[in-house]
Parts: sequence; C-alpha cells; structure tokens
Amino acid sequence: MILQPTDLVPFLCRATGKCCIHNLVLLSSFDIFRIARVLNLSAKELFEKKLLTYRINPSNYWMEPILNSRSNSTCPFLFRETNGANEKYLCEIYESRPLVCRMYPLKYDTDTSLFMRFSPAEHRCYECITTENNFTLEEYLQASSVNELLNEFNRYLALIDKISAAGLNLEKIKKKKEAQKKFFEIQSILYETYPEKDNIHNALPFEEMERRVDYILESQE
Ligand code: SF4
Ligand code: SF4
Repeated sequence: MILQPTDLVPFLCRATGKCCIHNLVLLSSFDIFRIARVLNLSAKELFEKKLLTYRINPSNYWMEPILNSRSNSTCPFLFRETNGANEKYLCEIYESRPLVCRMYPLKYDTDTSLFMRFSPAEHRCYECITTENNFTLEEYLQASSVNELLNEFNRYLALIDKISAAGLNLEKIKKKKEAQKKFFEIQSILYETYPEKDNIHNALPFEEMERRVDYILESQE
C-alpha cells in the first residue's frame, strides 16, 4: 500500500519490542557514525564489542554492516523497562537509531522513492496498527528526521553503486589478491574508520571518504 504525504499513518508504537527481535537492520556509514558517537565508542570498537557485524548481500556480494543480534535474537540495543506490572521494551540508542528503525513500519523503495506499508505478513505485531493517531505521513517522516537522513543515505547508496560498478565485490575478487586488498581497504574506510576514538567529529567526513574511495578505485586500473 502506498501512502501519500497527507495520508494518516495508521501506526502508534506500544513498545512491545517485537520489531527489534529476529530483525535484519542494515546500516549505512552514517548510521554507524551516529551510533558510535552516542555510545562514545569508535566505529572499530562497535565491531570489536560485537554490537555490529557483517552479512554478505546475496544479490550484489557486498559485505553489509548490520546490527549484531544477541544469542536470543534481540537487537543489542533493546532493553526492558518495568514499572509495577507494566513493562516496555525500549531502544538504548533511540535518538541515534538507524534509518531502517526510524522508518518502521514504512519502507523505502529505492527505485520509486515511495514509502509503502509493509505487507501484513511483515508485521511483527499488530498492537502498533491503529487508527487512533492523527499524524500524516509527512508529519511522521519529519518527526523521525527521515527525509533529512534519506538524503545522506542516497549519497551513501550512490557510492556503493560506484564501487559495485568497478567490480569490487566478494564474488568477483575471489582469486584476485590485489582486488581483495582494495576491497577490504574500502570496507574499512566506509565502516570501521569514522569516528575514531579520540576524534569524534560533528559530522561524518563523507566527502573525504568519497575521495579516499575514488583514489583506491582509480588506482585499480
Ligand atoms: S512491533 Fe510495533 S508496537 Fe512493538 S515495538 Fe515495534 S513498532 Fe512498537
Ligand atoms: S536499534 Fe533500537 S529501534 Fe532499532 S532494532 Fe535495535 S532496539 Fe530496535
């Protein structure tokens, strides 16, 4: 179902935490940067502490950073808060949560740029589906800073596309030592370098990252 900007979003979170269990949360460089800053950790430490990990994208063989679930399949940032008989499941990094989490239960189609409701089969629980709220899609996206973060996400996607177009993916570099070195160097720049422990910038130096990646891609030829 496609929502128009003025449509009401039939959604209100009841903090059951169900969408934060058995979940695949893909991260961009921007997401990692924000999480690291709020936890006062370097990007590298997020991986060392096993809060983040990688998965291989089966369609483009890119190594994508994701939130690393605990052994009980919950997000590493999900916590329970109790008050008498009431219990809530909350997010430790709520203000810096990844874009995917901010959009839930909407999703972004990169081809059409439309926001769509997840199909019923994709819902984790039905407690958040309601007609009780009165905010529109536009208001919902604004309150979650989604539009602002989508702009940077699209810049990130363009860079990944450029790297893929240059043939740097796990499948194509299997037997090419030099290409493997470049691939992991780029992965490190994108995901494990910013922020450094003693150098937490105001913003991710994305242009610097683009320049570094371009330099590696050009030196490939
Ligand atoms: S499943 Fe729905 S109600 Fe439960 S935490 Fe997620 S958004 Fe909130
Ligand atoms: S980062 Fe927060 S909102 Fe996202 S899955 Fe984890 S606990 Fe849920």
